[in-house]
Amino acid sequence: MSSQPDPPPFQEKDELHQFASFLTRQREQITERWMEEVKRSPKVESANPLDYHELADHLPKLFQDLADGLDSKGVFEEETHDDAESHGRHRWQQDYSLGELLRELGIVRHMILVHGLDAFEDGSASLSRAGRRRIRECILRFFEETAAASTEQFVAEQHQQLQVMNSRLQEAGRSLKAVNDRLNEADASRLLLLRTVSHELRNTLDALNGAVMVLGLDGIEDAERQKMFMICHRNLTDMGQLLRELTDYAMLLDKQPPVNVEEFSPALLCDELTAAFRPVAEVEGMTFEAYSHPALQEIRSDRLKIKQVLTNLITNAIKYRKPGAAAPGRIKLAFLPARSAGQWEMSVEDDGIGIAPEHLETIFEEFQRVAPERAKIQGAGLGLAITKRLIGLLGGGISVTSEVDQGSCFKVDLPKSLAG
Ligand code: ADP
Repeated sequence: MSSQPDPPPFQEKDELHQFASFLTRQREQITERWMEEVKRSPKVESANPLDYHELADHLPKLFQDLADGLDSKGVFEEETHDDAESHGRHRWQQDYSLGELLRELGIVRHMILVHGLDAFEDGSASLSRAGRRRIRECILRFFEETAAASTEQFVAEQHQQLQVMNSRLQEAGRSLKAVNDRLNEADASRLLLLRTVSHELRNTLDALNGAVMVLGLDGIEDAERQKMFMICHRNLTDMGQLLRELTDYAMLLDKQPPVNVEEFSPALLCDELTAAFRPVAEVEGMTFEAYSHPALQEIRSDRLKIKQVLTNLITNAIKYRKPGAAAPGRIKLAFLPARSAGQWEMSVEDDGIGIAPEHLETIFEEFQRVAPERAKIQGAGLGLAITKRLIGLLGGGISVTSEVDQGSCFKVDLPKSLAG
């Protein structure tokens, strides 16, 4: 809006000034007329739901800019440009289409060119031909500039909204992908569950079937019968264990099981576990040591869940013993006060086959077994996943240190007193 027209001679200057004063005086009436014309036009439908104030709010300012421009002999200031942009922004916010914005400006331009000039001449001396032409030129230039600046602003607003919508669309796309990935993961994990469980069941059933067939043979010796009986017993125990793990796992997946807080003595729990597991360990040629620190008196937590955690860890310590080792295997269970106040620690240590460093992270995930050398040891890879979830429910954490062929040590940190 800074291009400078040729300066007009004196008479035209005076006429421009008079018309400018006329516009300033009449700007409220002209604004009202603008509103009427726009509301009447079927081509600017978006104006209909708006009230006078909403539509006309900034318009007197635009008329003032036109009047000021005429007064400055057709030089429109930067402010005119800003007001035109603000007009574009207003109409964008009022849901106009670009066509409606331009049509509205066309209606007003026509109104001022025809009715405005007529009204001015009706009320004062007639304009000279040159003066009239100069005023018309100024009005046309004003509306050209206003249409350009408000259109630019309108399009910029549109562009900005498109960018916002685009980023929302991308965000929605990302969420959709995440949902899809989760569904795929769920599918994959269901498939893995089916594969693992059917594999375990087939192995156990094959072993059972073989042993039962031998037991049915005529003339089978006592020692052989005893051996087959042991095979049946062990495989039935494995099936029972698998079933228990599946039930526990299903329960943990379905909903958070309640935590039943009670006060108990860790020393008594230690004795209970020793009574249950020392005989099993000894059958496998292992020793079982247990220690509960005297400073640990009462614990407030879910005793049964803690027992289940320790049962899983001790069962693994027995399962993953070193086969055919010269010296008897050793399991140590210990309950100790932890370094941080309010915590206590349980550990299960063995001198079994150990775990390679690359598997230490994954063993706590569902169905993660360290294959293939342990494929012969029964298991679905659920025990540690269940253990970790149970410990999480009790507000604790589990960690492991291990060395292949040297043994493993699982440590569980728990709060001494759980609320509830
Ligand atoms: P599972 O014993 O049914 O395979 P777990 O979740 O209890 O499932 O254990 C996951 C894996 O971690 C096991 O397959 C085994 O390789 C390894 N593991 C767990 N405990 C021990 C342990 N005490 N010594 C050696 N390896 C172990």
